Amino acid sequence: MLFLDALSAALPTDRIVLDPDVMRAYARDQAAWAPAGAPIALVKARDADQVRALVAICAEHGVPIVPRGAGTGLSGGANAVDGCVLLALDGMDRILEIDPAEQLAVVQPGVVNDHLRAAVAEHGLWYPPDPASSPWSTIGGNTATNAGGVCCVKYGVTRDYVLGMKVVTGRGELVTLGRRTRKGVAGYDLAGLFVGSEGTLGVITEITVRLLRLPDSPQKTVVGAFDSLVTAGEAVAATAAAGITPSALELVDRYCLRAVDE
Ligand SMILES: Cc1cc2nc3c(=O)[nH]c(=O)nc-3n(C[C@H](O)[C@H](O)[C@H](O)COP(=O)(O)OP(=O)(O)OC[C@H]3O[C@@H](n4cnc5c(N)ncnc54)[C@H](O)[C@@H]3O)c2cc1C
Repeated sequence: MLFLDALSAALPTDRIVLDPDVMRAYARDQAAWAPAGAPIALVKARDADQVRALVAICAEHGVPIVPRGAGTGLSGGANAVDGCVLLALDGMDRILEIDPAEQLAVVQPGVVNDHLRAAVAEHGLWYPPDPASSPWSTIGGNTATNAGGVCCVKYGVTRDYVLGMKVVTGRGELVTLGRRTRKGVAGYDLAGLFVGSEGTLGVITEITVRLLRLPDSPQKTVVGAFDSLVTAGEAVAATAAAGITPSALELVDRYCLRAVDE
């Protein structure tokens, strides 16, 4: 059977997009410099079974798959290669579980970072990884890129919060990796291996993340003005040497300040 016939037979037709204009809109991320090829199809998956069916057909026909979250990546990782199927996971956007007692959440990969943060905040909980793209980027994309933002020095990056995941492997098998517990010492850290793998090892279809309690004390902001980068850097080193770990440190140069003022 030809590839597109096999695809249509295995997936609901409303999940398959062949319109070149629509496919073009999905064919690259935010890295304008990175090359992007021409996909043969775009599949908008709704669940892990559809991902599994797609991967099995692609494996049989030797067709590459490029998974994609929100396409906010800055490295071209979600860019199409010629002849690939683009697999859009932004439609798998349900928060499946928030467990305040265990301080964890289970989400589909297309859940937007800020949506997860808002949902867990209603339970007094906090998901710390905060890439500046958090209003748009997905937990699946954050996991596949090991995203981290300004809070990472104090609170860590995505890798520090992923406990486990479900993944469709290159053979189309759905496997469960990692754990739901705080302590995890047994066996190979295969979930950890998938964090930062940029879609090269398989397709992540579910993620279990660790949560913290929302901080009680109000945050305090301190602003300092420095004559040079060197003195600003010395202030950072002195802060660390004094045993203070700020939740975020941001250097804003005069050009940015001027732009903000304007
Ligand atoms: C304005 C802006 C600010 C940003 N700030 C930050 C920042 O502070 N910190 C930071 O780390 N990054 C930042 N980024 C980069 C980007 O937002 C992150 O890399 C983000 O994690 C990508 O998420 P996404 O959902 O857009 O994934 P995409 O860009 O769609 O995909 C990223 C990679 O993950 C793979 N992938 C996506 N979903 C899956 C899945 N379910 N299974 C397997 N592989 C998958 C893709 O194939 C690709 O390789 C920023 C980007 C922008 C545009």
